[in-house]
Amino acid sequence: MYNTRYHLADLSNYSFLVTGGAGFIGSNLVEYLLKYGARKVRVLDNLSTGHRRNLEPFMSHPAFEFIEGDIRSLQTCEQAMQGIDLVSHQAALGSVPRSIQDPITSNDVNVSGFLNILVAARNSEVKRVVYAASSSTYGDSTELPKVEDRIGKPLSPYAITKYVNELYADVFSRIYGLELIGLRYFNVFGQRQDPNGAYAAVIPKFVNQLIRHESPVINGDGNYSRDFTYIENVVQMNLKAMFTEDSRAVNQVYNVAFGENTSLNELVQYLKEYLAEHDPAIAGVDVIHGPNRVGDIPHSLADITRARTLLGYEPLFSIRDGLKETLKWYTQESATVSV
Ligand code: NAD
Repeated sequence: MYNTRYHLADLSNYSFLVTGGAGFIGSNLVEYLLKYGARKVRVLDNLSTGHRRNLEPFMSHPAFEFIEGDIRSLQTCEQAMQGIDLVSHQAALGSVPRSIQDPITSNDVNVSGFLNILVAARNSEVKRVVYAASSSTYGDSTELPKVEDRIGKPLSPYAITKYVNELYADVFSRIYGLELIGLRYFNVFGQRQDPNGAYAAVIPKFVNQLIRHESPVINGDGNYSRDFTYIENVVQMNLKAMFTEDSRAVNQVYNVAFGENTSLNELVQYLKEYLAEHDPAIAGVDVIHGPNRVGDIPHSLADITRARTLLGYEPLFSIRDGLKETLKWYTQESATVSV
């Protein structure tokens, strides 16, 4: 993994804090940063939805440090930022249904925790914070493709929290002169994404079910579509955002996607086709269609012009390429551990 180098800087000159580094996206960033020689990579994570096993490959690396702690504590955030140059803020409670079930905790972590990160960054020597925003900020806007400056009304508590992050970032950059860049991720998938639990994302959940010959349940008729984005594209974008020296590119939000949409029906077809190469019986597993889910929008597709123009982002992995890489990982995992 990560054979393409996306940064121009010498990482041995930089210390990084990755919040949420025990999670899916964070642990992939950690892997990249350590592989390319970062001076220090510190993770702050409370292991609420992330896993220690995601960090195990890095634990003995001399440049790696782990703080088990909560971003809801300002003191913890301040301690974690000591001696850090660049912050990659990934920690949050993801999932629209989780936020509908428990809006208070999602707000505490995603809004109050985010504010702690900004205040701690302001009180430290940190040069820049690149943070995880979300495509959910487009809310009820039906316009396609989604362009950063045109958003609708949020459709869930989660979407509100992610939009509030952008509002706080904008204000902090103006008032305190902080360098902040928000990345609106569109349905990211790849290695180490958790397939388990009530709030699992659709790709790992379906992969897990198909491997067990269980029928995946598609909410609705399967014609809803998403701009599924492979993790390697997301890592590239994070690196570009952390190291851009173009002042126009800073204090912006960006769509992070491949720029193509795939329906749920097509997705299941690809998964069955690729997984059947390992286990032919998977080709015969049926799909079940359930009701549409509250808060879901029919289609999502990103315009990635801003990221291309200002950051030189060039996604290298289409959904099909990304799925092939991802399935290698899940099929190896399922052979060794219970996924
Ligand atoms: P994840 O759940 O795998 O990772 C999130 C990590 O944050 C976990 O390791 C969790 O333990 C940690 N965390 C949660 N609450 C914390 C707290 N209070 N203090 C410290 N650590 C805490 O999720 P992910 O898919 O890797 O998402 C990373 C970020 O990207 C999140 O901010 C999420 O909202 C955002 N995002 C993800 C997607 C996607 O498709 N995966 C899409 C849009 C936005």
